[in-house]
Amino acid sequence: MKVGIVGAGMVGSSAGYALALMGLASEIVLIDQNAALAVAQAEDIAHAVPFMSSTVVNSGHYRDLEGAGVVILAAGVSQKPGETRLELLERNAAVFRAVLAEVLPVVPDAILLIASNPVDVMTQITTRLSGIDPRRVIGSGTILDTARFRSLIGRHLGISPQSVHAYVLGEHGDSEVLAWTSARAGSVPLSSFAAQVGSPLTTEVRAQIDDGVRNAAYKIINGKGSTYYGIGAGLARIVKAIARDQRDVLSVSISTPEVAGVRDVALSIPRVVGAEGVLADLFPDLDDEEYSALNRSASLLKERADAIAL
Ligand code: ADP
Repeated sequence: MKVGIVGAGMVGSSAGYALALMGLASEIVLIDQNAALAVAQAEDIAHAVPFMSSTVVNSGHYRDLEGAGVVILAAGVSQKPGETRLELLERNAAVFRAVLAEVLPVVPDAILLIASNPVDVMTQITTRLSGIDPRRVIGSGTILDTARFRSLIGRHLGISPQSVHAYVLGEHGDSEVLAWTSARAGSVPLSSFAAQVGSPLTTEVRAQIDDGVRNAAYKIINGKGSTYYGIGAGLARIVKAIARDQRDVLSVSISTPEVAGVRDVALSIPRVVGAEGVLADLFPDLDDEEYSALNRSASLLKERADAIAL
């Protein structure tokens, strides 16, 4: 499958690098308004390919997206000093309006994979602006938060994160919800597994894991300015589910008719992802506290998306 990437900055190029190493795409095309950056990133990634795969990596213009099955949208602007979150959102909405006007005429049937932040609101905006079936406009959402959650639980229990089935729901951001109630290790409820292996999930352990998931990005940003390898790999993971029609259950963000009592909002819950995009939504069992937290997260996201004039 050919994959387009619009926005060859840190996130877009990291996604391209992960995709190229995984050999998932036959061809990757990187596009950026800074053409020299797109050329340089494509060259650099192409030089890694001979060690790992046979993906063809190019930079190009929007017309070069022709034939792409997935287009990753990672373009965006960063916050100016003193700028409010809403002002930043409005500038990023303008970037997306410009980008979609170029992308859609070339690849009207491609699945759009949204990476730019705030990813849930950008997903909702893209769905509205494009008029595409919402199941084909997929935000990376909490895919990375879920991976962090599984990894910290796995580390505590002494098992591989692949054997942990747990999801982070709602916003990719401060209001996200760690779904402890529905979490499983193997087929066993988490608390039962923890007791059986003698590593109980005390309130303190849960608080540490919660902090580790919720504040991971802040810690990385403090140390190196921004995060990109993790999300790059997460984006490649979503492309894999689509390119191979794997029907994987992943926590990704799409505009959803109703979640926790809130209508028409883009946020993450576990969803089945395959060649046609999102095939099904899965609503995990939640306790009252988790349900209320998901309702708050959904309400907040809806408020933010509705505040943007399109
Ligand atoms: P991130 O860390 O989110 O990747 P960057 O600033 O590194 O942030 O990358 C964002 C990229 O998006 C930049 O390379 C920038 O040139 C690109 N970009 C911004 N606006 C547009 C646009 N209208 N069209 C194409 N690319 C754009």
